[in-house]
Amino acid sequence: MTEQTTHQQIAEALDKGDLLTSYRGQFAIPPKLIYLDGNSLGPLQPAVGKKVAETLVVEWGTDLIKSWNKAGWIDLPETVGEQIAPIIGAKSGTVIATDSTSVNVFKTLAAALLMRSDRRKIVSENGNFPTDLYMTQATTAFLGTGHELVTVKDDDALMKAIDEETAVVLLTQVDYKTGRMLDMAKITAHAHEKGALIIWDLCHSAGAFPVALDACNVDFAIGCGYKYLNGGPGAPAFIYVKKELQNQAIQPLSGWFAHEAPFEFDPEFKPAMSIKRYLTGTPPVLSLMALHEALKIWKDVDMRLIRQKSVGLSQLFIQAVEETCEGLTLASLRDPQLRGSQVSFTFDGDGYALMQALIAEGVIGDFRQPNILRFGFAPLYVRYKDVVRAAEILADILKTERWKDEKFNVRSEVT
Ligand SMILES: *Cc1c(COP(=O)(O)O)cnc(C)c1O
Repeated sequence: MTEQTTHQQIAEALDKGDLLTSYRGQFAIPPKLIYLDGNSLGPLQPAVGKKVAETLVVEWGTDLIKSWNKAGWIDLPETVGEQIAPIIGAKSGTVIATDSTSVNVFKTLAAALLMRSDRRKIVSENGNFPTDLYMTQATTAFLGTGHELVTVKDDDALMKAIDEETAVVLLTQVDYKTGRMLDMAKITAHAHEKGALIIWDLCHSAGAFPVALDACNVDFAIGCGYKYLNGGPGAPAFIYVKKELQNQAIQPLSGWFAHEAPFEFDPEFKPAMSIKRYLTGTPPVLSLMALHEALKIWKDVDMRLIRQKSVGLSQLFIQAVEETCEGLTLASLRDPQLRGSQVSFTFDGDGYALMQALIAEGVIGDFRQPNILRFGFAPLYVRYKDVVRAAEILADILKTERWKDEKFNVRSEVT
């Protein structure tokens, strides 16, 4: 018996016992495609297409402006926030859907900095997603308050860097390259002990495993709607603000939707006494409607099962790859408890070309600089047999060196 059949047999048994199997049918994943990139762009649910079409044709096409009230367009940022809240361990009234994650870095960071204006330091990680770092640099330059970004290289340095001079800690819970997961409870408690505020970026957490924002006493969190939440390309992002902090903070992009009564058209700004003060302008209804419909699937999902399956999928994938694929080295931590829902490998050849060859054969992952092959495992629709099949195809491409074909070396803009 070959190793591949053994892996397939394990997969078959695991798929049979999988309590999440019924969800896959709600996604439009092209037959034969193995989609391990839901951490970049979640797939479409046909129900979302239907809902958006209805919004276009009936709500916009027929009912026109009446739909702001009649179809609940005006409430969408809050409605969607309420749908996201339980997925990230947040109580009602603490989450709102708005803008992009990058913009929300600015909004939450500036709000937090103004609450800690006597302190100069912002602590983040060197390996944080670049937009978080860029937005932080731009925000400090723009505010001109003399705040300074300090980035650290590892976890020990991180704990040490958070001190009495720290105003704000800005961290992404799951590293986008390696999948390493930070200890939210421990770091948040440490930041608070030093008197700092903390902002968690949940782009690779929301929908990937249970998050406990309230229980960890987090101050602010942000995250996007198009990765594990499957809201569609460029879906609106979200902001979480701890209840007790909400009305103390003023976010700097306070447009009319952040006003306590936008339709009073009051020339004087009075911030909403709720999570709505983190809004800015007219919400993007079509995108929000897509996200709203996409989030319905989470209603009865047990997040513990999501985590259990995510660990199972990634462990089986690592095992199959390590036993059959030459030249790949695990770039993620081996302990699944310290990983989000993705696994990365480095390759001793051209990683970009290898990923292109894999994609050409129907296995979608992605490539990140300098030489990382990244695979995301979204438990709602990825099956155990998919990860085993992906490893088989990868092993075969490596064995035959098909990745060396010139056509796989043409770089596209989006990797
Ligand atoms: C995907 C991602 C973003 C994306 O930000 P956008 O404003 O949506 O482009 C931000 N931060 C992290 C950590 C991400 O993984």
